[in-house]
Parts: sequence; C-alpha cells; structure tokens
Amino acid sequence: MRSTNVDEQTLYTAQAGWLKSAVDILQGAGVDVMAPVETEPGVVELATVKSSEAVTLDYQNVRLPLKRLFFPITEVVLEFKSQPEGDVDVQSEPLVSETEVVVLGARPCGVAALEALDKVFHWDYDDVRYSARRARTTLISFACTRPDAQCFCTSVGGSPHNTTQSDVLVYLEENGQALMQVCSDKGAKFIEQLRDVVKPAPAGTQPPAPPEVKEKFDPAKAKAWLDEHFESDFWTEVALKCLGCGACSYLCPTCHCFDIVDEANWQAGQRRRNWDCCSHPMFTRHASGHNPRPDQASRCRQRIMHKFKYFPERFGQVACVGCGRCVRACCVGQNLVSILTDIESKAKGGDKADVASTLN
Ligand code: SF4
Ligand code: SF4
Repeated sequence: MRSTNVDEQTLYTAQAGWLKSAVDILQGAGVDVMAPVETEPGVVELATVKSSEAVTLDYQNVRLPLKRLFFPITEVVLEFKSQPEGDVDVQSEPLVSETEVVVLGARPCGVAALEALDKVFHWDYDDVRYSARRARTTLISFACTRPDAQCFCTSVGGSPHNTTQSDVLVYLEENGQALMQVCSDKGAKFIEQLRDVVKPAPAGTQPPAPPEVKEKFDPAKAKAWLDEHFESDFWTEVALKCLGCGACSYLCPTCHCFDIVDEANWQAGQRRRNWDCCSHPMFTRHASGHNPRPDQASRCRQRIMHKFKYFPERFGQVACVGCGRCVRACCVGQNLVSILTDIESKAKGGDKADVASTLN
C-alpha cells in the first residue's frame, strides 16, 4: 500500500460547492470539461458537461476506459481521392484541436494506466495525435472510495489513492468539501483557477487512508513462471472457455492494439485507425492465410504474456492496473486474477489442481 504521508504544501481544501465553481470557471475560460455522467441506469461514463448538474459522484468507476480520450476507438488518419490522370490526392486529417480539456473524476487506476500507454505511444515512434491529446488534457482524479471484489490495484503496484499521471487527486468529503493533492504543474494551474473556492490546507492535514484492496498475487512470481512456460497445457485449459470476443481488451485501460484499415469506394476513402484485440483470430492472420497464433490458447497466452512478461521486460512495468474491468465484463467468467493466482501457485510448485479455480 502506498504511503499517505503527503507534503502539506501540495494539499488544498475546497469549500462545498467547489465542483459547480470548477465547471463554471473552466467553461468560462473556454475549456472542454469532462466529468462522470450517468448515461443509462447504472452506467457512468466520462462525458462533456456544460453544468455541474449533469455530474454524478455516485459511481464505482466509469465503464469505458480513460484511454479512449487519447487513443480513440476509431479515428481518421488521412483521406484520399482519385484525381484525373491517375493521381491520388491525399489529405492528412488535421491534428487534434488545441482546445484545453479538463477531466474531472477519472479514477486513479485509469489515469495510472496512461503511464503504460505513454511508453508505447512514445517508444519507437512519437504518435503525434496521442501526444497532442495528452498535452492539452489536465487530469483531476477522484480518489477511489469503494473498490469492489474485482479490484486488485494493490497487486500491481497501485492504490485507490494512486497519484501516477494525475495532475490533482481529489478526496471528496461527504459534506461537499474536498481535499486536493496537487501532483503537477497542470494541477497547480487548476488550483490557481479555483483560488476563490480552494485554499491551502491547514498545517498537519493529511489525506484519508485509502480503502483496503487485498493483494491477490505477486506479478514477479507470476513472471518467473511465465519466463519458463511459453509452451504449457495451461494455456489450453485457460482458453477452453474464452470466446475471443475481445471485451476484456476493449475495456482494458492499458490494452493498445490497433488496426489500420482503408474504407473506400472506387474513387475516395479514408484510412482509419481502429482498436483491435489480440484475442481475435484475425488479429495476427497474414495475407497468405497463415496465422502464427492459430488457436485461442496461443491468443490467451499472448494476452497474459504481453501484460506480465513482455511489457515488464520492455518498459519496466506490468501492463495492468488492476481495475478489474476484464473480470467484470467477461461474458463467460474468465478471471484474470484466478489465472494469475494459479500461475503464482504453479511458480511455487503447485500442481495441476490449481487450474481448477481458473476453470470455475
Ligand atoms: S472477455 Fe472473456 S470471452 Fe471475451 S476475449 Fe476476453 S476472456 Fe475471452
Ligand atoms: S487486464 Fe483487466 S484488470 Fe488489468 S488493467 Fe486491463 S482490464 Fe483492468
């Protein structure tokens, strides 16, 4: 669990009504404000708001991952049109608008996931659209207050009060007040904009203790087993109930596979980047028809290996923040935590009986 011993200089108290003031002030400054909105009964998403009345604070987490604000589900990369004489006119889509965006109410796990995405999208190539969206956006996270049974952020180095990649972490209070922890220059600018309703916290103020999230497995021990078991019957057993639907990847805040497709008629079209998923049979199928991951076992293995072996080796962190979305969303009850605890048990010398929990 992370220490909650926070430098007082970064702490501010916000008076009741601060959220309304924040939305109004930011709107007045021409900022796009996004906040949690109940879009259908029981479903909360981050959406653009014009007034604080649209905002709900009654949510465990937003359904769709924060990554979609920076890495959209689908986006046009360029447009093309055939010209007389056989030429083709190619127009790059304009880069993203420079309008500032402030996101109020993302959860710490979703924001922390951007650390992994930043590494991917600035790795061998600087993804200018992703970078521009990140640069224009200020992230005001709301501390997690009611993690559920599927949450396991503490198993992967996180916490309900994780400040990674947040510009401000807000601890909401029942009386409408809040404690705000500034984490970056962008966060300091946000606090300055709210100077009429936010004041430095009194000396000695500390954030509340985070709610408990049990540690369920040790990624380092799991990796030790993964290092030695690219070939294993375990992958076949894990894959028995996976439908390859991709819901786990699409909802995952760290998954980042995409496909580039041309959508065109005989005269003109668009090149688009769309989310894709390593659980899909088509994901790795070559034009020749050969598929290096020909069965669901190899695809399930890839998803686990990528998150808990390849990504740590390349980028020094696991590609999972323990948000639990994949566990909640899987229509056949595939459970990443069970898979990882089975793997950890195997690493300790457990036998095949351990796999039973994965298959339940
Ligand atoms: S959501 Fe479940 S069934 Fe669908 S691809 Fe993921 S693990 Fe397989
Ligand atoms: S793998 Fe599952 S628990 Fe981990 S970040 Fe992705 S959706 Fe969340």
